[in-house]
Amino acid sequence: MKSISITDAPADACTRKAVKPVIAYPPEGLKRLELAAYRAVRDDLALVDSVVIPPREAGCWTVPQGHFCRIVCTEGSQVGDLNLFNLGNLDERLYTGKTRALFGSHVGPGDQLFSSLPYLRPMATITHDTLDWYGFDEFGAGVHDVIGTRCDPYTHALLSDGGTYHHCCHSNLTRALAQRTGKTLDEAETYVHDVLNVFMCTGFTRDSGQYFMKASPVRPGDYLEFFAEIDILACMSACPGGDCSTTHSSDIARCYPMKAEVFRPRALPDGWQAPALNGYDRTHGTEPPWRVAEGAR
Ligand SMILES: [Zn+2]
Repeated sequence: MKSISITDAPADACTRKAVKPVIAYPPEGLKRLELAAYRAVRDDLALVDSVVIPPREAGCWTVPQGHFCRIVCTEGSQVGDLNLFNLGNLDERLYTGKTRALFGSHVGPGDQLFSSLPYLRPMATITHDTLDWYGFDEFGAGVHDVIGTRCDPYTHALLSDGGTYHHCCHSNLTRALAQRTGKTLDEAETYVHDVLNVFMCTGFTRDSGQYFMKASPVRPGDYLEFFAEIDILACMSACPGGDCSTTHSSDIARCYPMKAEVFRPRALPDGWQAPALNGYDRTHGTEPPWRVAEGAR
């Protein structure tokens, strides 16, 4: 929040500010299939699972590798906070930071959701979004951000002088994950991570750079669809903020259930291969152990 300026600008401030930006992580370097290859197999899908997430609660479901998943708005404008895990290894989970570094602050068709270090590989590829018409509005807001974190009771306590609320997305995800995995609440909480904010409409204010939200444009029938690159355990909270037009971390907003559907395609995308674990050798520039031992003699 840069609303205060203490330091005088140098004489060449304008020149320094006029330098053109470069894209930090051009995704063109990624080896991956064209979106069209994924979309070519989504005309013939068999529904294999359907899960309803109650308002102000979270639910878990699995998406087998090679299947499609749709997150659907069913009854009213509602935002979902989504966590993704490798079903066989919960340490590998959605890494929103690198996902946004690669694809931007808000994700849509063709973008991939990457997993945490040291795995760093695509977990899912977004294949359809009925809200992709939204783009960015006059406030700089877009839909489906990977810039927010999740509403949580700790921040709420800080901002409300010790107030307590137990149905923030963080707590909903923690309870659902504990129930699904048999872990204690304390253990499960450590696996909950920064979310993909499904259907949420957000941005940063241009004057102060502050994270903002506004009423989601989502309506019943809208959905976000992704293809599972690996076996996924998904966990999503129907946020207590509802459409996130005013407030969250309370029972004030009107909230609706959401639905997750899993589909099996008749065929895999042409040329698709399961993503391997990241190829970096993890030596971090260290000498082989025998050389270190020789040097120590
Ligand atoms: Zn929330």
